[in-house]
Amino acid sequence: MAEAAPHLLDLHPRSWPEEFVRLGGKAFHGRSAANWIFRRLAPSWEAMSDLPAALRVRLSEEHPFPRSSLRARSEAGDGAVKVLLSLPDGATVEAVTMPGTSGLTACLSTQVGCPVRCAFCASGLEGLERNLSSGEIVEQALWLAREAGAIGRIVIMGMGDAGHNLEATLAAIDALIDEEGMNIAARRVTLSTVGPKGALERIAQWGRQVTLALSVHAPDDALRHELVPGVRKRTLAETLSEADALFSATGREYTVEYVLLEGVNDSPEQARALGGLLRRRRCHVNLIPWNPVDGMGFQRPPRERQEAFAETLRDTGVSVTLRRSLGRETDAACGQLRRRSLPAGPDPLTV
Ligand code: SF4
Repeated sequence: MAEAAPHLLDLHPRSWPEEFVRLGGKAFHGRSAANWIFRRLAPSWEAMSDLPAALRVRLSEEHPFPRSSLRARSEAGDGAVKVLLSLPDGATVEAVTMPGTSGLTACLSTQVGCPVRCAFCASGLEGLERNLSSGEIVEQALWLAREAGAIGRIVIMGMGDAGHNLEATLAAIDALIDEEGMNIAARRVTLSTVGPKGALERIAQWGRQVTLALSVHAPDDALRHELVPGVRKRTLAETLSEADALFSATGREYTVEYVLLEGVNDSPEQARALGGLLRRRRCHVNLIPWNPVDGMGFQRPPRERQEAFAETLRDTGVSVTLRRSLGRETDAACGQLRRRSLPAGPDPLTV
């Protein structure tokens, strides 16, 4: 069976003029459409009043826009706005904005479900349903901008692991950072991954100035393999050395994401072991107290224990931030961020 032609949003906005010519329009119509979609946040082809009517009909047939529909929207007391989007095949995907120091931070998903199956994360419970296309990732940012306001930062930390859907994720970032796209500075984009084989080398070769958030969660391989089953074939030593090589290639320090789980990975010995691994590396550690999920069998450590872990780690010479409150812009590991933005009470987005 022939593969379906890519949707317009799966193409880089700089190639839209060519596609518009193929559709019977003019090259400048492609640039105008990019302006409508990324700057003016038009909700549909019909709204793009300066495109010829016949062209809009052709676009609706070949590149239905939007592809996803807004199934639910919720707003938390701290200003976080979460959207649940339905895709044409029935898959659903979540995306969130949170207010922060640089305006709104958008947290985007890269997969439906997740193949990594972290023991503490509800997103990975059912495994991977499917990858999202680059356009489906981009469309989340468009929905968030329409529903919440202008996006200042992007974190690729929603459902899924960016490293396991890397080409689509990189293509989405390329569209979002381009002047013809959403025009967000690459330095304001963070990409989170557990670092599957080949992923960090590919990001280094790609070379954009985005920040890597490496999900580590344990100071040794045995515990990491237990908590993050998707990395069982990888060692921390090789993954961290690839992150170091990425720093050498881009000059961008990376962050190490570490979800604190009481009695599992939060002892002083584990803090010292983590410090031993990281103290000579160009990274910063984000400690994220686990956000409780019913039935997952973990506990969030008490605040004193969180602080003791952070202090012990700092004493080894590592730069550390201990996240404090729910829903803040960088208060996140992949999968955790979405859950943190939920309003109190039943989650209207998961029913
Ligand atoms: S924490 Fe991230 S990588 Fe792990 S299962 Fe959840 S979404 Fe996947």
